[in-house]
Amino acid sequence: MVHSNEMRVLVVEDEKRLAENVARSLRENTSCAVDVAYDGEEGLFMAESSPYDLIVLDLMLPKLPGLDLLRRLRKNGHKIPVLILTAKDEKDSVVTLLNAGADDYLAKPFDLGELLARSKALIRRGKGEHSPLIVIEDLELDSVGRRVRRAGAPVVLTPMEYRVLEYLAHRPGAVVSKSELLEHLYDYNWEKFSNVIEVYISGLRRKIDENSQIKLIRTFRGQGYSLQGREIAESRKGAK
Ligand code: CA
Repeated sequence: MVHSNEMRVLVVEDEKRLAENVARSLRENTSCAVDVAYDGEEGLFMAESSPYDLIVLDLMLPKLPGLDLLRRLRKNGHKIPVLILTAKDEKDSVVTLLNAGADDYLAKPFDLGELLARSKALIRRGKGEHSPLIVIEDLELDSVGRRVRRAGAPVVLTPMEYRVLEYLAHRPGAVVSKSELLEHLYDYNWEKFSNVIEVYISGLRRKIDENSQIKLIRTFRGQGYSLQGREIAESRKGAK
């Protein structure tokens, strides 16, 4: 009973009971079809051979670690949203996960309700809203193709960096607080990870501003961040 436009989720998890609980919960509470892979190689094979709307990926897996699976997917150009399941004692840091292209992660043991909420949010996001090209100075952001250029040169961002940039770019000149960014990114009150915003911003600065005379990303101490071209920056100065 597979409909052509049915949404599909792949769960890659070697702990059988957990994998089955996650799969059952997704089947019962979303309209998605769910496949399960019990090791990294099988997971990669399935991810590359079928169109999934979300992959729920454990890190410690036999045959191929989750992080390697993720890197290979991204390297091969797959943009499927990936939700990582991580155990507390695993050495991979949040930054490593995000840089490898993870869209979100959940620490074990987790609540199935939370997994569902995160999964639904990622699936929604993956479908994307279409809007035209945003241009700020020589920065171009194509939110349909999710491509970014600065002075004509392509800029490669992680999915989360992209989403921070896009959020700021939709509100040029506005000062956006860290909590607003977090709410946008996670649909969840995720305060304990609030320092990830600094990580994304510094990544964006390095990739977008470092080699340009005009710095577009600005920090307003205690208030938040803003993406602004010279015009807005100048008018602010004048107003002081
Ligand atoms: Ca495992």
